[in-house]
Amino acid sequence: MRRLSIKMRITLWYAAVMTVTVAAAVAFLFYASRKEMRSSTAYTLQDILREDFAQIDCEDGALVFDEDFAGAQGDVSVSVFNADGGFLYGKTPKGFAIATPFADGRLREIVSYGTEWYVFDRMEALDGYGSLWLPAVVSADAVAKTYGSMLRKALLLLPALVLLSAVIGYLLTRRALRPVRQITATAEQIGESRDLTRRIALGEGRDEVYVLSNTFDRMFDKLEEAFEKEKQFTADASHELRTPTAVILSTCEYAAAHAETLSQAQSAISSIQTQAQKMSALLSQLLMLSRADQGQEKLQWEPVDMSELTELVAEQEQEAAAARGIVIHTQLEPHLLLLGDETLLMRLLINLLENAVKYGQENGIVHIALTQDEDSVIGSIRDNGRGIAPENLDRIWGRFYQEDASRGEASGCGLGLSMAKWIVEAHGGSIRAESRLGEGSVFTFILPKKNRIS
Ligand code: ADP
Repeated sequence: MRRLSIKMRITLWYAAVMTVTVAAAVAFLFYASRKEMRSSTAYTLQDILREDFAQIDCEDGALVFDEDFAGAQGDVSVSVFNADGGFLYGKTPKGFAIATPFADGRLREIVSYGTEWYVFDRMEALDGYGSLWLPAVVSADAVAKTYGSMLRKALLLLPALVLLSAVIGYLLTRRALRPVRQITATAEQIGESRDLTRRIALGEGRDEVYVLSNTFDRMFDKLEEAFEKEKQFTADASHELRTPTAVILSTCEYAAAHAETLSQAQSAISSIQTQAQKMSALLSQLLMLSRADQGQEKLQWEPVDMSELTELVAEQEQEAAAARGIVIHTQLEPHLLLLGDETLLMRLLINLLENAVKYGQENGIVHIALTQDEDSVIGSIRDNGRGIAPENLDRIWGRFYQEDASRGEASGCGLGLSMAKWIVEAHGGSIRAESRLGEGSVFTFILPKKNRIS
C-alpha cells in the first residue's frame, strides 16, 4: 500500500467505502422488500378469501358453494373448515398439511414437508350455519420468484456501481492532484537548471493545493532575493578587497624595482600599511556582519553610560573633524545609562560620527545630542553637509551602498550604516535618517534602557 500513488490509494479507499455502502444499501433493500412482500401477500390472500366467502350460502342448514368459488386462484389455494377444524370444502396444495389451530387475520409461515408456505386464516360467521374457518395457502417459493429476480438484479448492480464509483473517484483525484504535478515539475526544474526565477504560478484559488503552491512561490521569491543579495554581497566584497590589494601589489613592485633610498622604501611601506589597514577594517566588519547573520555574534550585556561613551567618541573624532575645519558640538544629558554591549554601541557612535564628519560641510558644524524618555535613550547626530537624495534615503542602510560612486580616499566601503542598523536592532531599538539635499542630515537612534531582547 505504501508504494502506491496517492491517486491509487484514494481510488482504492473510495472503492472499498463504496462497496460497504452499496452492500449495506442492498441488505436494507432486501430486508425492506421482504417485509413489503409479507404484507402484500397478506393483502392478496385476504382479498381472495373475501371473494370466496361471498360464494358460500347456507340452505336448510347445509352449505352451498357457488360455482364461482374458485378453491384455487393461481398459486393460492382456499379451503373451508368448520369451527372444530373439520374439513368441509376446497383445496389444499400438494405436499401441504393444514396446520391448526387457525389464527384469525394473521399471516403464518409454516414449514410442511420441507417446504415453506404462507397461510392466511379467516374466521367468518355464515347466517344459519355458524362459524367457518377459511385458510388461504400459497407457497413461499412462488412469492419469492419476484423477490429472487430483484435479488439477482441488485447483485449485478453492485459491482457495476462499485466500478463506476472507483472510476469517478480516480478521475476526480487525478484532477484534484494535477496542481501537485505542476509543483513537482517546477521544483524539479529549479533543482536541475538552478533557475530561481521559475514559479509554479497556479493563480488564485482557495483550496489547500493552491495555498500550498502560493506559499511555495513566496518562498521562492524570498530564496531568490536572498540568493541575489548573497551574490551581490560576494561581488561587492571582492571588489572592495581588490582595490587595496592592487595598490599593495603595485606599490611592492614599484618599490622593489625603483626604491633606492630608505625614505623611498618607508614611503612605500606606509602606503602599503594604509591599504592593509583598510583591508583589515573591511575584513573585521565583514566577519562581524556574517556572524551577525548567522546569529553567532553574542552581545556582552552590561550597564553602559551612553553620555560618557558619546563624549569619548566625540573626542576621538576631533582630529578628523579639525582636518576639515568642522566643529563638533555636543549637548549630552549626563549619565544616561542603558543595558547594552559597550563595544558595539561605541562602533555605532563612531560609524555615525565618522559619516557626519566625512559628508559634513567643510568648516561646518556637527551636532550630537543625547536625551532620554522613560524607557529609552535617544541620540541624534546632525551635520550641515551635502545631504542625501530622498530616493536614496532607504538604500543607505544596504550593505556596500555608497551614494557617490566616485569615492574619495576618505570614503569607507558602504558597510558603516548597515552595521549601525544591525547594532541598534540587536539592542531592540530603532534608527532613522532624515535629510535634505545640500542642507544636511540627521541620524536619530532610540535605544531601550532595559533590554527585552537579551
Ligand atoms: P560609507 O562607508 O560609504 O560611509 P555607510 O554605510 O556609512 O558607508 O554610508 C552609506 C552611504 O550613505 C554613504 O556612502 C553616503 O553616501 C551616505 N551617507 C551616510 N551618512 C551620511 C551623511 N551624514 N551625510 C550624507 N550622506 C551620508
